[in-house]
Amino acid sequence: MNLSCFERRATHEVRIGEITIGGTHPVAVQSMTNTDTCDTEASVAQIERIDRAGGHIVRLTAQGTREGENLRRIVDRLRADGFRTAVVADIHFRPEVAAVAAKYVDKVRINPGNYPLDRGDFDALVEQCRERGAALRIGVNHGSLAKRIFDRWGDTPEGMVASAMEFLRICRAREFDQVVVSMKSSNTRVMVAAYRMLAEAMEREGMTYPIHLGVTEAGNGIEGRIKSAVGIGALLGDGIGDTIRVSLTEAPENEIPVARLLVDHFRSREGRFEVLRPERYAPVEYRRRSDVQTPVVHTEIDGRFRVIEALSGNPSAELRAAILSLDDERQPVVVRRRYDDTDAETVAVRAAADLGVLFLDGLADGIWIDAPALDERQTEQIELMILQAARVRFSRTEYIACPSCGRTLYDIEGTLAEIKARTSHLKNLRIGVMGCIVNGPGEMADADYGYVGAAPGRITLYKGREVIERNIPQEQALDRLVELIRSNGDWVDAEQ
Ligand code: SF4
Repeated sequence: MNLSCFERRATHEVRIGEITIGGTHPVAVQSMTNTDTCDTEASVAQIERIDRAGGHIVRLTAQGTREGENLRRIVDRLRADGFRTAVVADIHFRPEVAAVAAKYVDKVRINPGNYPLDRGDFDALVEQCRERGAALRIGVNHGSLAKRIFDRWGDTPEGMVASAMEFLRICRAREFDQVVVSMKSSNTRVMVAAYRMLAEAMEREGMTYPIHLGVTEAGNGIEGRIKSAVGIGALLGDGIGDTIRVSLTEAPENEIPVARLLVDHFRSREGRFEVLRPERYAPVEYRRRSDVQTPVVHTEIDGRFRVIEALSGNPSAELRAAILSLDDERQPVVVRRRYDDTDAETVAVRAAADLGVLFLDGLADGIWIDAPALDERQTEQIELMILQAARVRFSRTEYIACPSCGRTLYDIEGTLAEIKARTSHLKNLRIGVMGCIVNGPGEMADADYGYVGAAPGRITLYKGREVIERNIPQEQALDRLVELIRSNGDWVDAEQ
């Protein structure tokens, strides 16, 4: 394998206000506000904090005409304060709001899953963006595909790609190229497969639209950072991605340093492996190359495993090449890499970005992070979290928590902390913690239980996709969630 230079997928430039992405521009980092878009003061203050942290593209939800109209005040205030932040409107369900927002912002994001194609709204939006010099994002979400797509493809990566391609073909037919595309999911395996398939589909049709990367509902703390780094890192390592958002259930400005760390980690990368070569990837129907069922971490390694250490500046490519060239192609393999960073978060993000992809692709059977500055217990926790983020070993409760936005109906950060304190020791459970009933239930996808904002101070509880209790007071909701998990026999302690 040639390891001489790192390549990015070729894309054309898209201008978002004064920021240009794609082409040879560095991968841009961005975030989204979680303020009420009608609250000019709070929204502007938050955008300015994000911009000062280094995120120069910021999205705001515009769920109704009032929010859409208020974007004008927000943009005016930002410019008056001397900020050139690119402002993006996030639209769901109501195409007429896209037409309002597009009068004021630098980019409009629509979700093709809830944007009608048969009424001409999209064609009109394309023309409006062209006239104003605004960009568009076709933002597909795994949890909210259009019914016609879902009926044909199910909620699969193929369905996500089909959904994006419908809209991209319209943009191309109308000769409008200021378009960015994304394929988000909270499931890293679905997300990585969808983006890779999208890149291949675009290549087949000669399209070079830039790609926006993100893992949705990644949660918070070190787990949220690791989950984002596994998904985004796998794709940046493939040369895919022109702008990224690390979405965390925390203050939005906290997302920026993590995104920067990821971008810088790949920017300084030496070495090359070919992009867009599907034979390198695990099939969407996932299988492992060896018979080892539960991948191990460094403290559990025994003589069955072959340890392969990455020494070059391109660890995932080096390890992949070494594993694929083993004489015994079913020999269980442990991948090892040394990180000399002194803080746990940096080690976690870098290691997740380098090593997670080898588990997503079914190539590795064990992980060994050599981090001299961390204690063994800390390192082991990071290793377990990477295996969980890559969905090969579940050792703790997984939280599918939305990052919150202007639609959020309660203090999601504090509530997530309370839910974690009561449930994080449970085994093999996925709990969705979502800010609103409009998008939450669809986007928590395959969660076992869901805690969803239904109205101010009111929560609806789900088991799978079924509503169990509707509109209960928030003070009672956590106790009721715990009772619900117990009564279904799912209150089982995990291995740690
Ligand atoms: S689930 Fe609702 S509140 Fe949470 S980010 Fe999505 S739209 Fe916003």
